[in-house]
Amino acid sequence: MKIHTISVPTPFYIGPVNVYLIAEDPITIIDTGPKTKEAVEALREGLRAHGFRVSDIRRIVLTHSHEDHCGLARSLRDEAKDAEVLVHEWETGHRHGSLEYQEHRALLVRAGVPDDEIEALRRMYEGVRQYADSFQEHEYGPLWDNGELELTSGTLRIVHTPGHTPGSCSFLREADRTVIAGDCVLKRITPNPVLSPDPLDPSKRFPSLAEYLVSLARLRSFAPTMVYGGHGGPVNDYEELFNRYIRAIQERQSQVIKLIPKDGASAWEVAQQMFPGADDVHRFLAVSEAVAHLDLAHIEGKLAYEISGAKDIYRSV
Ligand SMILES: [Zn+2]
Ligand SMILES: [Zn+2]
Repeated sequence: MKIHTISVPTPFYIGPVNVYLIAEDPITIIDTGPKTKEAVEALREGLRAHGFRVSDIRRIVLTHSHEDHCGLARSLRDEAKDAEVLVHEWETGHRHGSLEYQEHRALLVRAGVPDDEIEALRRMYEGVRQYADSFQEHEYGPLWDNGELELTSGTLRIVHTPGHTPGSCSFLREADRTVIAGDCVLKRITPNPVLSPDPLDPSKRFPSLAEYLVSLARLRSFAPTMVYGGHGGPVNDYEELFNRYIRAIQERQSQVIKLIPKDGASAWEVAQQMFPGADDVHRFLAVSEAVAHLDLAHIEGKLAYEISGAKDIYRSV
């Protein structure tokens, strides 16, 4: 099974996104790129280089529903006529639109984000949303953990790897222990565990970092020889990357714990100290990162938290 990488530009800080083409029946792409003219052109050019057109695509698989990964899914599906689109059921972004926004808003309030900042984040989010088309409930099929995607030369095993988002999935080719991992594994940066509602109970936060650690360990159990991430080059030494991630997470956790004053603090207050002067999308990612580490410290019994007014206040134990 040959996995071709097509690099597609994005208007985002992260830079180009990797679309993976598996050039055998049924012709499959994993992720799509954002909904921009530049991205469609790059994708067409990349397909053409391997002798294909958009109309040849039979299956569009999404690692997760961030705009840079899923943005073109609907227009590609329309152009390719009956191509199927597959995404994990827990990946609610771009499926329930406004409802999801309300749930996110509630989480930001609990994290102690001030009203004017929430409004600024909402405007920013509206700007980002234009880079993806939304899907209706009947327009996609589900990806299941341990399910299989069949191809001519073998199968790709679906591995649910939550953390970066609740429904993030990776794909394992057991024959040579190759993994396509979306934003679960990135060569140069530690992926951000994005603040999300828990798909099983949207009034709660998804325990993103705790889940992410489980996902990293699960990928490690496959002893992968090569991991293709959502951005940047492939990783041929997963063990080294795994250890680096774990160290980075532990260091960040002790930093976060030290930032908690005697009378406690909200995630927003911690984020302000961790990332002073963060701007643009980084303002949201800063809160996300603070919440993720505070919640993990709480799960591990290193911090306590209580609800004070509408806010969650973390305290030392
Ligand atoms: Zn992502
Ligand atoms: Zn990404």
